[in-house]
Amino acid sequence: MIDLTTLSIASARKKLDEKVFSAVDLAQAYLNEIKNKNAELNAYLEVYDDVLEQAKKADTRIAGGESYPLLGIPLAIKDNILIKGRKVSSASKILENYVASYDATVISKLKKQGAIFLGRTNMDEFAMGGATENSAYGVTRNPHDTGRVAGGSSGGSVVAVAANLALGALGSDTGGSVREPAAFCGIVGMKPTYGRISRHGLMAMGSSLDCIGPIGKTVQDVEIIYNAIEGKDGLDSTTISDDTYVKTSQKKELVIGVPYDLINGDRGMSVETKENFTQTLEKFKKLGFKIENISLKNINMSLAVYYIIMPAEASTNLARFDGVRYGLHKDGSNLLEDYMLTKGAGFGKEVRRRILIGTYVLSAGYYDAYYGKAQLIRSSLQKEFNKAFKNVDLIATPTTPDVAWKIGKKSDPLSAYLADIFTVTANIVGIPAISIPSGFVEIEGKKLPLGIQFMASHGREDSLFEVGQKFEIKNK
Ligand code: GLN
Repeated sequence: MIDLTTLSIASARKKLDEKVFSAVDLAQAYLNEIKNKNAELNAYLEVYDDVLEQAKKADTRIAGGESYPLLGIPLAIKDNILIKGRKVSSASKILENYVASYDATVISKLKKQGAIFLGRTNMDEFAMGGATENSAYGVTRNPHDTGRVAGGSSGGSVVAVAANLALGALGSDTGGSVREPAAFCGIVGMKPTYGRISRHGLMAMGSSLDCIGPIGKTVQDVEIIYNAIEGKDGLDSTTISDDTYVKTSQKKELVIGVPYDLINGDRGMSVETKENFTQTLEKFKKLGFKIENISLKNINMSLAVYYIIMPAEASTNLARFDGVRYGLHKDGSNLLEDYMLTKGAGFGKEVRRRILIGTYVLSAGYYDAYYGKAQLIRSSLQKEFNKAFKNVDLIATPTTPDVAWKIGKKSDPLSAYLADIFTVTANIVGIPAISIPSGFVEIEGKKLPLGIQFMASHGREDSLFEVGQKFEIKNK
């Protein structure tokens, strides 16, 4: 029997080489677990029927002496990343039976390494949300308390890893969609520097914010997946190479800046989260990190900036789903009616809301008042962060203002948007950020996880992995 609960990518890989088990055994163990748990958790929208064949091929490659870090490792893929010949729907009715005609760059890279794709995972429709409650295919449940949300939008990918239905996963993060569910489910999720991982083959939400992000049980696993998929790509002109940014020099003793103004302000943060954050920072102090108070004047405006830029970009990106080129088509008496019927039937409520907001902030007369201003604040934020990173190596905040909420509790969209307060800034500024588990709080007899978020300057993913791994080792 393979003990899935203690397995990490690094340990599984070693055991595959040592022939403790085969890739087929490993894949079968995950398929069994999926069979037992997926009906309740709804992490996967589809489990592929050729998983064991994929695993057999990996075994042949292992026997042939290949040793890629992800060879034979079973992964879950968010339903907005294209795998050639397989369905991909962004959890939307508009793309219900859409089949991808090419591989996303990250998928080609994973295929080259011989990773196994278990299936595609549930998400908020077109990645719009923070709870996977906006999926057209039902909510994904939190394994720590199935009455609560898993977070989102990469809820399915995160639950797959947290509940041992996959060893690692890919999600996408436009404003926190990898980090927030990772915090809610007690695992690790990161977003890279904008452009470090190709977006080719990722369905676009907010193109200047979107990043594919790795998800794993440990920081080391996340680093392994990151290393496998990062890199400049001719198919995505926004990608950058490792030396694009001049790296800020690291202090010998890493300095962590904390924007106490933001954390102590009235941001809807729960008492438990504040306590957990303070205690976690104490642990970092004991590990030898220096903690400093920093002031980031404009960070208070991040959420407003995000909820202007993101819908503006999303509304233009989603214009392509017109019923003519992709997916669902409804016939009206003329073209306009075709559009209205198709979009009305294909898009869920939150997607329609964001298209409306986006179209509004871009419309003549409002463009300067909203979109133009948001762009100005975006560049001040970028300057402010560049300045801050001259004095500190990392910036820490809680990942979320509270634990996962009960399913259905945040039906008012604004209250759900507020949960993104700490995560959106990294996307606006384009810097890398990671969420790592920071312990549990007990609520109504259930232990619910929380996460701490670290942001680093452009290109300094290495600092995030360093701080994360030190913390993990200490907490073992
Ligand atoms: N929760 C955020 C939103 O609703 C983030 C989404 C994301 O990162 N894809 O927009």
